[in-house]
Amino acid sequence: MPLEPTSVPLSSASIEPFRDLLEADQWEEFIRSMRETAGLLKNATVWNINSTAHGGGVAELLESQIPYQRELGIDVRWLVIQGGRAFFTFTKRLHTLLHGIAANGATISADERAEYEQTLGRNVEALTGQIRAGDVAILHDPQTAGLIPHLVRRRCRVVWRSHIGVDQPNDVTRGAWRFLMPFVRAAHATVFSRHTYVWEGLDEATVNIIPPSIDAFTPKNQEMDAATVAAILGATGILAGGSPRGEPDFRLRDGSPRRVARPSQLFPEGKVPADARLVVQVSRWDRLKDPLGVMKGFAQFVAPKLDGHLILAGPGVSAVTDDPEEPAVLGEVQDHWQRLEAPARERIHLARLPMEDLDENAAVVNALQRRADVVVQKSLGEGFGLTVAEAMWKGRAVIASRVGGIQDQIENGLSGLLIDDPHDLAGFGAAVTGVLADPARAQRLGNEAKQRVRRDFLAPRELTQQAGLIRQLVQSAD
Ligand code: UDP
Repeated sequence: MPLEPTSVPLSSASIEPFRDLLEADQWEEFIRSMRETAGLLKNATVWNINSTAHGGGVAELLESQIPYQRELGIDVRWLVIQGGRAFFTFTKRLHTLLHGIAANGATISADERAEYEQTLGRNVEALTGQIRAGDVAILHDPQTAGLIPHLVRRRCRVVWRSHIGVDQPNDVTRGAWRFLMPFVRAAHATVFSRHTYVWEGLDEATVNIIPPSIDAFTPKNQEMDAATVAAILGATGILAGGSPRGEPDFRLRDGSPRRVARPSQLFPEGKVPADARLVVQVSRWDRLKDPLGVMKGFAQFVAPKLDGHLILAGPGVSAVTDDPEEPAVLGEVQDHWQRLEAPARERIHLARLPMEDLDENAAVVNALQRRADVVVQKSLGEGFGLTVAEAMWKGRAVIASRVGGIQDQIENGLSGLLIDDPHDLAGFGAAVTGVLADPARAQRLGNEAKQRVRRDFLAPRELTQQAGLIRQLVQSAD
C-alpha cells in the first residue's frame, strides 16, 4: 500500500527587508542569482523532501526559506515522508550510527534494511503524478536517502543534503555510510555543511559545501524589546513577575500580529524568578545535545559560585514524531534532577515549550534566547547548530562545544567561547561562571557575535549558494 507523503502548506514572503541588512554587493548577487534560477527552471518544480514538518533544524530551515524562494518566482514545495514506528526507530539509530555511536550494536540487520527500503518505496508509489521528469528534488538527511535511485529513474535532478556529520569518522560511522552509499552515490549532487563531513568515497565533483543560515525576520529571530521578552516569558509561564509593562506580542513574517498564550510545561512546577541571571540551552531532548551534562556542569561548577538559574528548554515531547528517544532522554534528565542537592536543584529548570503552533513556539525560543545572560550549547556532536547562530544574532554571549559546525560560527574568544572537550564539565562551568560574572565581557562577545552572523549566516547567503547549485544541475541535464 502506498504511503502518501504529507504536503506542507507554503506561503511566500517579501525579501525586501534584507536589503537594509546586507552589504550592497551581497544583496545584488542574491537577487541576480535567484532571478536567473527562476528563469532557467521555467515550469519545473523544486521539491524538498524530509521526515518532519515540526521541530529540528531541517524543518526550521525549510519553513523559513521556501517562502522567499517562492516570492522570487521559483516553484518550491515541501513533502514529508511517512513511516511507521519501526522505520523511525531505525532511522534514529542510523542517525546515531552516523555520529559514530553504537548504543545497540553497529550492525544493521536485514529486517532494518527491508523496513527502510519498503517504507521509502511505498512513499515513492504515492508520488507518481506529482514529481515529474525535469523537476529538482532536494532530499534531506538519511531518512530520505533511499528515495534517490527512484527519483533518478524518474529523470529528476536529485540532490541529497546531509545536515549532519562528524569531525572524525570511526568504524561505526563508516558502517552507516556503507549502508547508505549505494543510494547516495546515485544522486546528481550532494551537499554537506562542512568539508570535514564529506564522506570518503564520494565523487568530489558532485560534492557541494553549503553551511546553513538563519532568517532574521521570522518569529524565532525578529527584534523584540525587553518588555515584550518579559511579557512572553510571563505569558507562557516560565518567568514569574506579575504584570510586566509589555504585551506578549510578536509578528508573523507577513506582518500580522500574534500573541503568546499557551503554557510551557515546567519541571519542577515553580516559575523562574523574574530578575534571575539566566543560563539557557534550547535543544531537542537528545543525548547528543547533552542536557544531562549541562545540568551536571551547572550544578557542580556554576551554582556554588553564582546565583544564576539554568533553563533547559526543548519541545513538548509528544510533538516531535520522528524521534522516539525524546521521552527517554527527558526522563533521564528529570531523574538526575531529583538526585541533585537542594541548593542547585532549586536553580535548575526544564521547560517543555508549546508545540501546537510553531510560530508561538518560535517566539518563546526568541524571548528565552534574548533574556539569557549566557546561552550554552554543550553538544557532544552537532551538524551545524542553528541555536548557536540564533543566539549570536541576538547579541548573546554563547558558550558552546568545539564540535561540528559550531566551530565555523564562533571565533573563540571573539564572537563567543568554545569548550575544547565537550565532556569537560569543569571547563564548561568555569567559562559560564566567568562570563556571567563579567557583563561587559558578555556584551563584547555578543556584539561581535551579531556582526559575525550578519556577514556569514543569514538566509540570502545560503539561498544564493543553493540557487547556483540548482542552475548547475538543470544546465547539466540538457
Ligand atoms: N527548536 C525550537 N523549539 C524547541 C527546540 C528547538 O524551535 O523547543 C529549534 C531551535 O531554535 C533551532 C532548531 O530547532 O532552530 C534546532 O536546530 P539545531 O541545528 O540547533 O539542532 P538539530 O535539532 O537540528 O539537531
